[in-house]
Amino acid sequence: MKRTQKKITTETTENKQQAQDFIPYGRQWITDDDAAAVSAVLRSDFLTQGPQIELFEHALSEYTGAQHTVAFNSGTAALHAAYAALGVGAGDEVITTAMTFAATANAALYVGAKPVFCDIDPTTGCLNPELLESHIGPNTKVIATVDYAGQPSALEEIYRIAKRHSLAVVEDACHALGATYKNSKIGDGSYADITIFSFHPVKHITTGEGGALQTNSTDLFQKAAQFRSHGITKDPTQFQNENDGPWYYEMQFLGFNYRMTDIQAALGTSQLKRADRMLQRRFAIVQQYAQAFRDQRFFEIPPVVADTVHAYHLYPIRLSAQLAKRKKELSQRLSALGVGTQVHYLPVYQHPYYQSLGYPAGLCPVAEQFYTEELSLPMFASMTDAAVHKVATTLLRVCGELER
Ligand SMILES: *Cc1c(COP(=O)(O)O)cnc(C)c1O
Repeated sequence: MKRTQKKITTETTENKQQAQDFIPYGRQWITDDDAAAVSAVLRSDFLTQGPQIELFEHALSEYTGAQHTVAFNSGTAALHAAYAALGVGAGDEVITTAMTFAATANAALYVGAKPVFCDIDPTTGCLNPELLESHIGPNTKVIATVDYAGQPSALEEIYRIAKRHSLAVVEDACHALGATYKNSKIGDGSYADITIFSFHPVKHITTGEGGALQTNSTDLFQKAAQFRSHGITKDPTQFQNENDGPWYYEMQFLGFNYRMTDIQAALGTSQLKRADRMLQRRFAIVQQYAQAFRDQRFFEIPPVVADTVHAYHLYPIRLSAQLAKRKKELSQRLSALGVGTQVHYLPVYQHPYYQSLGYPAGLCPVAEQFYTEELSLPMFASMTDAAVHKVATTLLRVCGELER
């Protein structure tokens, strides 16, 4: 009796609290079950390279329908491994989108390749397949598409173009765990050679830091797994030199230490059990936002694209021309009122480092325009109804004030 009462009180307090406190654009949701799973590993024999990694990898394969999963200590490490496993190297080109987190392009630089930026579809923010072919040249090795905000890319078109030119497709699905495209779950390999996920705390499920690569190719799987651990194999059937004894292992190419810990993997497995429920919560928030924003002229809400299920990692709105000019003020005022927002993304090549590599302004005009209009509203599974209501009413009020 006492316990039940306490629980109800806590939940109500939490509800009120979240509407009063600062609401970030994204955050994790950790339960007692998650904490217990982590705690059990802390008291077990293995903190890393124990049984938890494989359990998490199997659970991820089952969740998306992929044949193979390799867990990494970040999504960025998984991207690096993907390009390396595909044999991308110096002199090669990776076509990607400017509307992404820098890591998608950075990982191409890690292997000595050159990122080539293709412009986006102005409605979805994803790579525009109509512009893709004009970027393909003799040095192109990979097309790395990004499922922006959780909206699957135009995967069928991209995959068809890639295969016509004998190119590999890497799908950066760090925003899209749980999304589907034409009845195929993102990660199942129907339209990508390799799919990448991230488990950073703002993503759908978290391991603190973490990521994964999925593929249906046994060869790519083996290479990526070996890349994760210095290029070392302990599998005697793979040895190139003589097997000296039970201690023997071989380093066969230059890899990295990109391993996830068992502590992280246990958290991931526990989180993954709730992935669909958490996704459903995101859908409910989308409904609540859509209802609140139905009769206004300040901005457009994310489009609904036929034959796809959006995973809503982000809720990107597109401001009217008038409000886009005052986005800085809008974001500052919202923040002062306890509503966090973020902008996804400054086109990658507009970062100083990429400018220093010689990428000119104006390379992807649609992405540059998108950047001026886009604002990501708070969107995370543990967001309460009260918090969603607060975001919506605060936003509408401030937009009205700024338009006057
Ligand atoms: C989060 C993210 C990454 C990188 O993931 P980390 O786990 O932070 O390294 C890569 N690409 C996109 C699009 C992302 O959102």
